[in-house]
Amino acid sequence: MNFDTLALWSTHFKDENAGAVAPPIYLTTTYEKAADGSLPHGFLYSRMNNPNREAVEKSLAALEGGALGMAFASGQAAAMVLFQALRPGDHVIVADDAYYGTPALLEEVFGPWGLLFDRVDLTNSDNLKAALRSTTRLVWVETPSNPLLKVTDLRAVTELAKSVGAATVCDNTWATPFLQKPLALGCDVVMHSTTKYFGGHSDVLSGALIFKEETELAQRVKRLQVLGGAVPSPFECWLVLRGIKTLATRVRAQTASAAQLARFLTEHPAVEAVHYPGLPTHPQHEIAKAQMTDFGAMLSVQVRGGAVEALAVAGRLKLVTHATSLGGVESLIEHRASVEGPNSTTPPNLLRVSVGLEAVEDLIEDFKEALQP
Ligand SMILES: *Cc1c(COP(=O)(O)O)cnc(C)c1O
Repeated sequence: MNFDTLALWSTHFKDENAGAVAPPIYLTTTYEKAADGSLPHGFLYSRMNNPNREAVEKSLAALEGGALGMAFASGQAAAMVLFQALRPGDHVIVADDAYYGTPALLEEVFGPWGLLFDRVDLTNSDNLKAALRSTTRLVWVETPSNPLLKVTDLRAVTELAKSVGAATVCDNTWATPFLQKPLALGCDVVMHSTTKYFGGHSDVLSGALIFKEETELAQRVKRLQVLGGAVPSPFECWLVLRGIKTLATRVRAQTASAAQLARFLTEHPAVEAVHYPGLPTHPQHEIAKAQMTDFGAMLSVQVRGGAVEALAVAGRLKLVTHATSLGGVESLIEHRASVEGPNSTTPPNLLRVSVGLEAVEDLIEDFKEALQP
């Protein structure tokens, strides 16, 4: 089935009560039992499961081609539960430029708790080979990465990880399953901040994990999801489910605009570098071409000068809002080094752009004016 169709089909909600086409929001926390104590609809208590969450989880699993989807209160909550499913003494490898919150969880929470970890540049397999240990349980990849849009060869990473029995998880937030299917490329788990493209309108915080198979790790994560309860509310699930219906249409249009904007920026004299996997000059352009169906709507630009010049450009833009986050219908720009703090390795003159649904001519005009003070 075509992805556009699958997105609609997998989010279709059959309302037995009233035949509503748009799903109702089930605000109940608890469910009536039958006389014999059984659960007629399978629902017991909302932390365990509820109809809105079940609908999102099934759709997410269908879109990523996995056996099991699980929704969480945020992308970080999803990451947290995956790390919690490991045991003290286990070793984790995380991409060197993964979303800063991922290594922050390892450094501040799970290191002291007993996980061992290394940050590795996974765009080079030799680095991974050298870092793998017999105790490595998890390799955490993010491609394209945040904020430098480095692309990692998922097949190469998963093959190496398998050789020591480690699972590979791919943070697929930026690409979305519309552009990249990590499970089909050998990964065991996909992680999402569904706050971004799935929600699509900058109005819902949530996350997800999708497992290719119902492994022991998947079962343990499922248990932690219902025990810990870091789950999205029925309304948040409803918003994500609605977002999924237009995911392909939005990402397709945003990607086309991002490609045009990237080309415009590469030719601008006030620009030092543009990071976008769709540019033939991108160091992993060929890998991106092989494992993605298109290159996505995120790009980074390094302006001539330093942090002051970069922040000035962000401030002069009129259509593009200076704010954190990404994946919404409105274009956003952010100076990542300021957000990431003193340990940031992001170049000080770098601005990250999330291209929205504005007409690309208007976006290009906005950048033209902002780049020449
Ligand atoms: C936003 C983001 C996260 C964290 O997700 P939250 O929903 O904010 O907790 C993780 N990874 C990537 C790539 C992100 O963009």
